Amino acid sequence: MTKKVHNYSAGPCILPAEVMQKAAEACIEFNGSGLSLLEMSHRSSAFVDVMEKARALVKELLHVPAGYQVLFLQGGASLGFYLSAMNFMKKDGKGAYVNTGTWAAGAIKEAKKLGKVEVLASSEDKNFSYIPKGYTIPSDADYLHLTTNNTIFGTQFHDIPSCPIPLISDMSSDIFSKTIDVSKFDLIYAGAQKNMGPAGSTVYIVKEDALGKTGRDIPSMLDLPLQISKDSMYNTPPVFPIYVAMLNLEWLKDFGGVPAIQKRNEAKAALLYGEVDRNPLFKGVVATEDRSLMNPTFVLNDEALTARWDKMWKEAGISGIAGHRSVGGYRASMYNALPLESVQVLVNCMKELEKGA
Ligand SMILES: *Cc1c(COP(=O)(O)O)cnc(C)c1O
Repeated sequence: MTKKVHNYSAGPCILPAEVMQKAAEACIEFNGSGLSLLEMSHRSSAFVDVMEKARALVKELLHVPAGYQVLFLQGGASLGFYLSAMNFMKKDGKGAYVNTGTWAAGAIKEAKKLGKVEVLASSEDKNFSYIPKGYTIPSDADYLHLTTNNTIFGTQFHDIPSCPIPLISDMSSDIFSKTIDVSKFDLIYAGAQKNMGPAGSTVYIVKEDALGKTGRDIPSMLDLPLQISKDSMYNTPPVFPIYVAMLNLEWLKDFGGVPAIQKRNEAKAALLYGEVDRNPLFKGVVATEDRSLMNPTFVLNDEALTARWDKMWKEAGISGIAGHRSVGGYRASMYNALPLESVQVLVNCMKELEKGA
């Protein structure tokens, strides 16, 4: 790469340079086969090995317990909204949801197409700037659905409520960022492009004996038991995104695994939030105890400084911190591959702005 860019993209996300290098090489020739990865059969042993390895790395890195299956499917988390409800909501049943913002609302919208939905709590009253707590989980719902990290608003569940019914979670933007207890969940799904790989694959981690109970006739592509029986290859899988996800998970393993990246993610978040709280020119926009380690959001106290501030961070090589249109201000997405050094560059800019103000 010629120009040093500090990539804070909210998704598709930054990936490690060595992952890009290996991915590029596989496009030219894959493992001395004389073929590009892009032109070989997904049934070839070379690709079946990639799929197996990607699934095994998910299991290893997240300590997925026995009885769970790992799948790489398509459709993004947005299909996961519907697919999860389809596989867990009984024909005359209902799903319970906590509405923590745009993506949670998307899951609610899709589930309503299948049946009854009970929204247990919502933080919409304060533009999704906190995680609702203290609601009762109805024992007659088929499942509870949570969005563990709210990519747009910058909130995150730091405690998963104990749940007497099956628990489903959209973990698109915090999977592999911190250790999790997979056994608490019946289904975890995540679009790859936030913290796992490029866009195009979606990981599903599912407790096998929680499936097959809805009484629904599920379309084949959405049918988790069918996908499990076909080892994620009911149809042609997205070979390249899965390969790059595999490379990225290998990188994470070499980094020291999830506990090691969690430590660095915590250090990055402490550095940035520390400056947001210290610097009189800035303020955070969400409840302190619910702040996301992945997508910190903040605003300038004095909007008159906007032009100067925007020029400053752009000149420092920072990319992608403009906030989502529904929140405004700034969002510094700090996915796994973002080094601490990049956060230091952003913090230095904030200090510079203060000096000149
Ligand atoms: C980005 C995002 C989605 C949407 O993902 P797609 O893969 O684009 O469908 C859903 N949920 C969360 C939490 C996200 O961050």
